[in-house]
Amino acid sequence: MRALAILVLVPALLTGCTSDPDPTTFDFETMGTVARCELQLPDGLAPAEAQTLVTTVYDSVATVFSTWDPDTELSSLNRAPADSAVTLSSWLFECLDEAERMRVLSEGAFDPTAGPLMHLWGFHRREGRLPAQAEIDSARALMGGWAFTGESEVTKWTAETRFDLGGIAKGFAVDRAADRLRKAGVTDGLVDLGGNLFCLGGAPEREDWRVGIRDPLDRNTWFASVNVTGRAVATSGSYERFVTIDGTRYGHIMNPRTGRPAEGVLGVTVFAETAVLADALSTALFVQGPGWGRIFLKTLPDEVDVLMVVPGPEGGKARVLVTSGLFDRVTLLEGYGETYELVEWE
Ligand code: ADP
Ligand code: MG
Repeated sequence: MRALAILVLVPALLTGCTSDPDPTTFDFETMGTVARCELQLPDGLAPAEAQTLVTTVYDSVATVFSTWDPDTELSSLNRAPADSAVTLSSWLFECLDEAERMRVLSEGAFDPTAGPLMHLWGFHRREGRLPAQAEIDSARALMGGWAFTGESEVTKWTAETRFDLGGIAKGFAVDRAADRLRKAGVTDGLVDLGGNLFCLGGAPEREDWRVGIRDPLDRNTWFASVNVTGRAVATSGSYERFVTIDGTRYGHIMNPRTGRPAEGVLGVTVFAETAVLADALSTALFVQGPGWGRIFLKTLPDEVDVLMVVPGPEGGKARVLVTSGLFDRVTLLEGYGETYELVEWE
């Protein structure tokens, strides 16, 4: 069980803003992670009702997307034989469509068929074993092997193609939860699903949400905070989930090009209009790293901002690369100036 990937502090805690009444807060476990909501409820929406709206969304998402549960729609797609057309539910179609869009945008760094690699590296049995190169090659060869072949329809070319939407489904769920809450009249609130956030609102007269970013070198604490309003936030880090093989930690984000866990980046946080984009993009940028990321980000709309933590030069501070649109909103927390250096990423 993972703890929250991101700490969220109500404005009152950090900024001394006291005009807001206390938000309604609830935490629960779902989709293999921890969920949290902090909401200013409108008149007529009871706390229990708001919680039910959110848990219903997550439970429904889990019944479609989980690969642990053999009864989900995705598990059934994974078992489908080659050359048989499968009609998808609207949620699975939408999410896979978004995942495929991200695969193309990221030049293959994000790939919804990383399942065989996750399996090979031991993330399914939760026990790592260093695979032989031949096994890595075989697993890589199983990636792809599918296409949209009609309206909401997918066909696999190889029976062994295994979808894994773990890099995007939480974002998808958060967008749906935020949507439900908005429709129920919530204009100010925060939805967090295992580090995938949506910050709704806030009212113009009120301060931003202040979001803490986990220290990638020590995930029990936070090293920076960012002011956010009306945007989604997602973080990818290899420290979140890993297997240990012969004393070395291997993170849970695969580099499809090498067939090995991606290396080099310590953590990536993406701020975007939707949680699904933030989630998928954080995974893609984690794989591609800062060189590619810098060029790629210039092709995206200004609404996307990124904070990427990369190791510094030998013995030097780790570098926190922050896109210009976000730079003024980021603060290193006290004591972290020794370990991290904020750099505007232009
Ligand atoms: P988290 O699950 O911690 O929020 P991410 O959003 O970065 O982190 O997603 C990592 C998950 O994405 C992995 O656990 C796996 O299910 C899936 N995955 C691993 N490698 C890739 C990849 N290259 N492209 C897309 N999904 C991936
Ligand atoms: Mg992701």
